[in-house]
Amino acid sequence: MNAHDSERISGLLEADGMERVETDDEADVVVLNTCCIRENADNKLYGTLGHLRKWKAAKEGRRIVIGGCLSQKDKDVVAQKAPWVDVVMGTHNVHRTTELLNHSIEHGPITEILDEAVLDDYTLFPSALPVRRETTYNAWVTIQIGCDNSCAYCIVPAVRGREISRPFADVIGEVAQLASTGVTEVTLLGQNVNSYGRDITLAERQAGSDARVQPLFADLLRAAGDVEGIRRVRYVSPHPKDMRVDVLEAMANTPAVCEHLHYPLQSGSDRVLSLMHRGYTAQRYMERLADARRLIPDLSVTTDIIVGFPGETEADFQCTLEIAAEAMFDNTFEYIFSPREGTQAADMTEHFIDPAIVSDRFDRLKIVVEHSALIKHEARIGRIEEVVVQGPSRRNPNVYSGRTRQYKLVHFSSDVALRPGTYTTVEISKAAPHFLTGFLVEVLQMATHKIRIPVVSV
Ligand code: SF4
Repeated sequence: MNAHDSERISGLLEADGMERVETDDEADVVVLNTCCIRENADNKLYGTLGHLRKWKAAKEGRRIVIGGCLSQKDKDVVAQKAPWVDVVMGTHNVHRTTELLNHSIEHGPITEILDEAVLDDYTLFPSALPVRRETTYNAWVTIQIGCDNSCAYCIVPAVRGREISRPFADVIGEVAQLASTGVTEVTLLGQNVNSYGRDITLAERQAGSDARVQPLFADLLRAAGDVEGIRRVRYVSPHPKDMRVDVLEAMANTPAVCEHLHYPLQSGSDRVLSLMHRGYTAQRYMERLADARRLIPDLSVTTDIIVGFPGETEADFQCTLEIAAEAMFDNTFEYIFSPREGTQAADMTEHFIDPAIVSDRFDRLKIVVEHSALIKHEARIGRIEEVVVQGPSRRNPNVYSGRTRQYKLVHFSSDVALRPGTYTTVEISKAAPHFLTGFLVEVLQMATHKIRIPVVSV
């Protein structure tokens, strides 16, 4: 979400006549779009701002803009600690980037943090705003902002606000517009995509409408997959407590929706899941996972697991190991718990786990999840996979990297030059826990997106 906001900020600045440069020395404006989900975001921000103070002083007219969830959380603190910053804006101010920058040039430093309650659909979901996308053949599409859950370790609800669904037609309109420029893959983006549309339904009910409980995420998946030119639809992130069979059926019945489910487990212990306020048990998680694998052939499943949540005992951790082994994930993102100020878990200090114990658990979990990832990958040796090209390898221009529909990273050799976004088939010859290796069999579809031609003022 934060990276996509950065694309919007870049797009706005370019539309206002600016150009991207490669080094600080060449720049007149630096924007730091902060993310406080990352550890030590505050320290990194203020450390960087110390360096930027000298950068700003070295040349007349230089400007510094700070956006993102750290400024949303800290509000006036950034301006107090770093008064040389020109613009401090929150997560709901992205559409105002250029106005705020211009305001600071005329009137001096400004801090503007908007509350989502005062915004309308246009400012919440500014699809009409320019976006400078970092890739050309695939794109993120926001379907929802905020989150109504209260996971004990997570700062998102505090900095992104309540959950608000983007209007259905607006989402599909953006997907169609992207497809018309040659984008073939979209990733639908939300904090809890399974609850997409609930607030729209509630609003309709409150307005006296007796319309069916619509739209729901399953409808959105089908509609996005039906857009002409879209070959792949992905989404992040679902929540196991809200995952329903209708979404799995939509995945199974919509050819463009990829056979990949990122399904965050977080812990295999019901006691820890309860402390985390996740709203499901390990059994419920595994039952839905079984449904998913039954309904969607060749499904790959990836997950997130937090190790060392406050109060996690060795017995709790054993439950996580057992569930991870049983689930046979294709890939696992393991995280060591670290407190985020302002979350419930940050106050559970008396239950924090000794870092040496956490580190040991992390290593033990890694062995289990890499074992299952390798087994999953080895089972693909000899298969012909559809791979969309991401780009050439930095070390060898005859080796390309790409992704399968299952989101597996493939490095493959090719004598043919391939643009990013080209669809190929690749025969898999080797496997490792985190990637596959193979060779080009056939080019299925050349990349069709338009190549970006920078506009340079003379
Ligand atoms: S579902 Fe939980 S972890 Fe995900 S954004 Fe919401 S509060 Fe954070």
